[in-house]
Amino acid sequence: MTSYSIDLQCPQCGAPVVLDETERIVACDYCRVRHIIVSGRHQTYCIPPKQDIPPDSLLYVPYWRFKGMAFALLGSKVLHRLIDSSAQAVENAGVPFSLGLRSQTQRLQQVTPASPGRFLIPTLPVKDLLQRMNGQRLGLGAGQKSPGLQVHIGEVVSLIYSPVLVGAQGLQDGITGRAYSGKAVTLEEEQISPEPPASMSFLPVLCPHCGWDLAGETKSLCLMCTNCGSLWIGHKGRLIQLPFQFYGSRLQDAVYLPFWRFKAGDGELPAEAFPPAIRPLLDEGSKQAFMVPAFKIHPGLYLRLSRQMTSGTGSGFKPEKFPKAAYYPATLPFREGFQFLPILLSRMVRNAGQPAEAVSAAKLKPRQVRLVFVSFHSRGSDLVQPDLNIGLHKNALSVGRSF
Ligand SMILES: [Zn+2]
Ligand SMILES: [Zn+2]
Repeated sequence: MTSYSIDLQCPQCGAPVVLDETERIVACDYCRVRHIIVSGRHQTYCIPPKQDIPPDSLLYVPYWRFKGMAFALLGSKVLHRLIDSSAQAVENAGVPFSLGLRSQTQRLQQVTPASPGRFLIPTLPVKDLLQRMNGQRLGLGAGQKSPGLQVHIGEVVSLIYSPVLVGAQGLQDGITGRAYSGKAVTLEEEQISPEPPASMSFLPVLCPHCGWDLAGETKSLCLMCTNCGSLWIGHKGRLIQLPFQFYGSRLQDAVYLPFWRFKAGDGELPAEAFPPAIRPLLDEGSKQAFMVPAFKIHPGLYLRLSRQMTSGTGSGFKPEKFPKAAYYPATLPFREGFQFLPILLSRMVRNAGQPAEAVSAAKLKPRQVRLVFVSFHSRGSDLVQPDLNIGLHKNALSVGRSF
């Protein structure tokens, strides 16, 4: 897995800050103020040109960048893979289909209203591209019957603009200078974004309730207020409060791993669809509830943990404030976790030969989303959840941190 670096400016004092693409908090070494990125679903970056290109000849071509887990249900089998790739977000731009290595050797930059050059408007939806790209990587060849179900989960889907020189002699790579085509290119007005595409917005990492500094690693999506005991997540330009609970016994040496918990809404499958031993948890009001990891991990383990947590029963506790302990950061947005439910259901329903049929009957909607901190304790190289009898190798978590 590769990771891109992004050159930013501290929103408070303007000092330069280098961010890893998986980080959500900009921590400034100079003024010490931390900001959380709260802009929309896709971060937008550009690769600055290396060649000297006059603004009139500088064109930015958009690429979708995806890093995460891909799952497909093929008959009764679940295929899965880690994916790290990029693909052009416009058709036939006359430039390479993928970003290749260029974005690993170049630092990315924020697109600002003052960014020079023209930006092509992305026309290919990210969903279609993921379907195509990930289908190939999952080993679903062109001749093969397409699987009933494909899901992609992962937090990094960004839009990266790569520079191209548009000259009388055609197109040239704005980084290496390599010629792409010898023909002159005409661009229609409607292909060009009227202004540089929207970029990032930030908020200081302060509790909206009490003004306290919120705690959380730079990769964490959820931030804790250890003063008033509230939990916060960036959503559509602001911080919103997130319900949470603790699960398992209160241990001395606890490491809390975050899981998303949803109720299924009215479209859930009937209880008889599941064998008694692996029925989903029943929530208050006898609604099925599902639990999936709120962190990235190898896809096979993601599936196993989701199944174990969803069909396990156990009790929780509600402390006044966050107990002093190690908290593993929540790095996977809840909508990504929710998208995983059909794959999880396919591994829980009775109809093991044709799970897709059973799963398609479910019309799930995420309801009453909350973050659950599950207590594990450290035993040698493993983390163990004694109430549910779940074990996890610590290395598996460090692998998950890299994507
Ligand atoms: Zn600063
Ligand atoms: Zn607070």
